[in-house]
Amino acid sequence: MLAYLFVSGDDLTPVRQPDSPYYFAYKGFPNTRSTMLVAEALADKGWLERSFFDRHHECAGCHSHRLIVREECPACHSPNLSEVDLIHHYSCAKLSPEDDFRRGTALVCPKCSKQLRHYGKDYDKPGRVEFCGRCQKTTSEPAIGFVCQDCGMRVDGDAVNVTDVFSYSLSDQAGALLATETAEVEYFPKALLQAFPDELQRRVLQLSHSKECAPDFVVAEIQYGARDDLLRNKGEAAFRSMRKLLADNLQGLLGDNASVHSSHDRDYVLFLGVDETGLGAYSASMLNRSESVLFDKLHPTLLVLWSGREGTER
Ligand SMILES: [Zn+2]
Ligand SMILES: [Zn+2]
Ligand SMILES: [Zn+2]
Repeated sequence: MLAYLFVSGDDLTPVRQPDSPYYFAYKGFPNTRSTMLVAEALADKGWLERSFFDRHHECAGCHSHRLIVREECPACHSPNLSEVDLIHHYSCAKLSPEDDFRRGTALVCPKCSKQLRHYGKDYDKPGRVEFCGRCQKTTSEPAIGFVCQDCGMRVDGDAVNVTDVFSYSLSDQAGALLATETAEVEYFPKALLQAFPDELQRRVLQLSHSKECAPDFVVAEIQYGARDDLLRNKGEAAFRSMRKLLADNLQGLLGDNASVHSSHDRDYVLFLGVDETGLGAYSASMLNRSESVLFDKLHPTLLVLWSGREGTER
């Protein structure tokens, strides 16, 4: 999809299409639903940027967007409603639809059986209500309901799924990656990059693509000397929460100069504006301070995976 958008130079654009169950289609992509899912996943990872196109209602049963909306009887959900006048009989306070009073041409009160003769004197008409042709109930506030035209599923208006339709364009990050010659991808080892958590990948790509000045940055992995012992004695969940505590402490100490990124089983630090030689003593003291408050010691050290200095050779 990214390559297609890059080559075509077009955005992924929805066009209205009433005969599709989604009421729209993406130009060049025949399967609308899987295109939506892929585009959403790419947008979540920062490769595509969304712009709002429209808001649809979606069937929870079959994902169709072909729903009709109608006013319904709140008691039985029938849309067979008609508006009727209410009559208020002053002398006995009976309030009912006009039909209940109607006897041929005369109006007779169903409660006290008196005939109503003078509008304004015997009775008045305080308003109109909806009368349900199916269950015969009246209501002044009809409900809203949606019915799927593809599978017939009905849902209350306040419970219906809403789904936003977007057009998508390549993000700067995706454009930069796709425009890059292979040589420049090799500048940062691709296999290494792919092992990183998403956010770290994004940061490294941005740094690697600033062409004018080769940026100084270092990516290091935190290694834990006590890893095997802790896994054996405390278990994986405990080890992971210790890693998390240490990572949070470390990020707090490093401030804006570096960022800590964690994947399921590894932690990385991206240092900005430094080279490898300047890092050693500084990072060791930061790691020591990060774990000083922890009950169990992790014995962390840094393994430098990549240093921006090599990049200046290119
Ligand atoms: Zn009456
Ligand atoms: Zn009804
Ligand atoms: Zn449906």
